Amino acid sequence: MPTRFRGITRREGMIFQGAAGWAEFSPFLDYDARESAPWLAAAMESAEREWPAPLRELVPVNCTVPAVGPQEAAAIVRRSGCSTAKVKVAEKGQTIAADIDRVEAVRDAIGPHGKVRVDANGGWDVDHAISAIAALNIAAHGLEYVEQPCASVEELATVRRRVGVPIAADESIRRAEDPYRVAELEAADIAVLKVAPLGGVHACLRIAEQIGLPVVVSSAVDTSIGLAAGLALAAALPELPYACGLGTTSLLDGDVVAHPLVPVDGFLPAGRQALDLAAYDRVAADGETDARWQARLSAVRAVLA
Ligand SMILES: [Mg+2]
Repeated sequence: MPTRFRGITRREGMIFQGAAGWAEFSPFLDYDARESAPWLAAAMESAEREWPAPLRELVPVNCTVPAVGPQEAAAIVRRSGCSTAKVKVAEKGQTIAADIDRVEAVRDAIGPHGKVRVDANGGWDVDHAISAIAALNIAAHGLEYVEQPCASVEELATVRRRVGVPIAADESIRRAEDPYRVAELEAADIAVLKVAPLGGVHACLRIAEQIGLPVVVSSAVDTSIGLAAGLALAAALPELPYACGLGTTSLLDGDVVAHPLVPVDGFLPAGRQALDLAAYDRVAADGETDARWQARLSAVRAVLA
């Protein structure tokens, strides 16, 4: 990975092929076998089952602006070609003034018709969230939404009742039962769903139907093969009112397909992706890593069985 993200600089995972196509199994290294089980279920689904019929060929995606200075933030937005930007805020060690500068620069770069959302990754308490959201909403000339302003679902519900900006739940949705809790507590206006931790494209489509909230499909720093599953979900959703967080191949130095899924004019195509041997050779794991993942696969399989 070119930049540290989620505390890691190297992304590991397994790629395999079944009757339906290629699949990615890449639970983060700190996940135990039980927590990794839905990731394997999702991968096996991609390998063995057809995905739901797509309702659209192209999926709108956002660009992601890390907690960088305003000039760099503006450059990232202009380079991306996306008309929706997600801006990281509430970074440890930074001030709200830095967040405001970054958000103002992103609004300037994206223009009056672009959408600006912010992601606090649970970094505020309730009071800070309320004052920060007010200030950033002014800086952005209107925020599309705020992702995970506080850490807990209860805090999200409190903040949501006290601000006018829509709230999206991301980290609050990690297991299959979580979206229902978010909906029940009226803690969010939007649910961020990731295919792998929630057990697959079909499972996510069911969740989306049942929770009665609009959905934003996001990646877990996947290769293009993993992203294709997210795109399959986004393409199959009856309503897709928001750009998805699937334009993430730039977080990786390498990929396993011949033509990585890089957004063009803010869109990615839905459809199967296939392993390319030359691309794979450049990122293939050493023997030690391979053995460690084979053992991991066996352990997770035992949980699923
Ligand atoms: Mg997020």
